[in-house]
Amino acid sequence: MNEDEAYEYVKGTLKKERIVPYQPYELEVVKSVESCINCGLCINHCPVVAAVGLNRFSGPRSIAVELSRSPPEFWSTADTIYLCTGCGTCREVCPKNVDIPEVVNLIRARIFEHRPDLVPKGFSMIREVLTEHNLAFEPWADLEEKAESRDMRLEKLGLPYVEDRRTDTARVLFYPGCQAEERAQEVREAGKVILDYFDIDYTLLDEMSCCGLPAKLIGDNKTSRLLAEKMTEKVKKLGAEIVVTTCAGCTSNLSDLSHHYEWGIPTVHLLEFLVEMIGLERLREVMDHSPRQEQVHVTVHDPCHLIRHTSRQIMDHALDILRQLPGVRVTESNAIDSCCGGGGMVSYHSGDVANAVVRENLEAIHKTGAKKLVTPCPLCTAQIESNLFKAGSSVEVDDLTVFIAQRLPKKR
Ligand code: SF4
Ligand code: SF4
Repeated sequence: MNEDEAYEYVKGTLKKERIVPYQPYELEVVKSVESCINCGLCINHCPVVAAVGLNRFSGPRSIAVELSRSPPEFWSTADTIYLCTGCGTCREVCPKNVDIPEVVNLIRARIFEHRPDLVPKGFSMIREVLTEHNLAFEPWADLEEKAESRDMRLEKLGLPYVEDRRTDTARVLFYPGCQAEERAQEVREAGKVILDYFDIDYTLLDEMSCCGLPAKLIGDNKTSRLLAEKMTEKVKKLGAEIVVTTCAGCTSNLSDLSHHYEWGIPTVHLLEFLVEMIGLERLREVMDHSPRQEQVHVTVHDPCHLIRHTSRQIMDHALDILRQLPGVRVTESNAIDSCCGGGGMVSYHSGDVANAVVRENLEAIHKTGAKKLVTPCPLCTAQIESNLFKAGSSVEVDDLTVFIAQRLPKKR
C-alpha cells in the first residue's frame, strides 16, 4: 500500500465520524497556521480588505485564527474563503510565515469534498469545461474561425504568423497556458515569434491540457491531480530540458509540479529565458534594428504569481528587457506589485470584488502619466484592461510578450 492508498484507507475508516486526516503536506500548512500570533499585520496589507472592507471580507487573520481554533470546522469560513485572490501579500508580510494562500487552498479542498453545497455556483461552468476538455476555457468549436480570429489579431498587432511546431526531440517545451491557447491567442503567437526569432529548438505539446491550477483553486483536488499527472506524463515522455511559459500562474504552478513530481527540469517564464538563455546583450543588438523606434511611455504591473509565488527577480528581468527596447521609457507606479484582483477564481462568482481590487490601483497607474501598461500575464492583462476601459481611461494595456515580439526586426 503506498502513501496515497494508505491515506484513502484511513480516510474511509474515519468518514462516519466526520474526522478528516491530513496528508503530510497539509499538516505542514496547518502547523504554519498554529503559529499565528494574531498581530493583524496581514490585514493592513490585504488588497481585498482594502478594496471591500472587513465587513465583506474578514481577511487573512480571521482565516488563520478561525482555522487554528477549530481545524475540522472548515466550512465556518466558507463565506469569506472564496474572496481571497491568493495574491500572497499576507504571507510576505507575516512575521510567522503563515502560509494563508495554501491555507485557503486547503480549506477550499475540504469544503469541495465535504460540503459541495457551499462551493460557489459560479465554478460549475469551469469545472464542466475542465472535466470535458482538460482546459480551463471552452475550446473553439470551429477551428477555422479560431484561425481567422488569430490572424485578425496578428494583423492588428503587426505580428507575423509562425507555424506551430510539434516534435519529440526539442530542447524546450513551450507551454502557453489555457488562456493564451483559447482566448488571448496573440500571447501564444508572440511567444512563438520570439522563440523562432532566436532559433530556439522548441515544441508545443501534441495536445494542450491545463496545468491544473484552476481546479486546485476551486478545491477540486482530484481533477487538479489528474491534470498534473497528465502533464507530468507528457513532460517526461518529451524529454525536453526546460519548460517555458508566457503565463504567471502557469509559471508558478508548473514549477511546483516540476518539484513535486520530480520532472528534473525547470519551468521558467519567457522573460527569464530571454535574459538567462539569450542574454540582454544579444537582445540589445537585435533591438538596435527594431522597426519600432517611436517613443513610448509605459508603466508595469507585476503579477502576484511571479513575484510572490515564484521569484521577484523575474520582474527585475522584465525591467531590464524593457530598457533594451528602443524608445521605451518606464515609470513604475506605486501600485506596481498590487494584486489585479484576477487571481483565486474570485471573478467567477464575485466579479464586483475582483474589480474593486484592481480599481484601487487605477489612480496610481494614471499618476505615472504612462500611455501604456505592460504585464507578462494574459490574466492580469485582461483584468486590468477591462477595468481601465470601464473607467474611461485612455491607458492601453499590452501583454509584455506581445510588446517585445512587436519590436523584433524581420527575421533574416
Ligand atoms: S500577519 Fe501572520 S501572525 Fe500576524 S495575524 Fe496575520 S497570519 Fe497571524
Ligand atoms: S492571499 Fe492576498 S487576498 Fe488572500 S488573504 Fe492574503 S493578502 Fe488577502
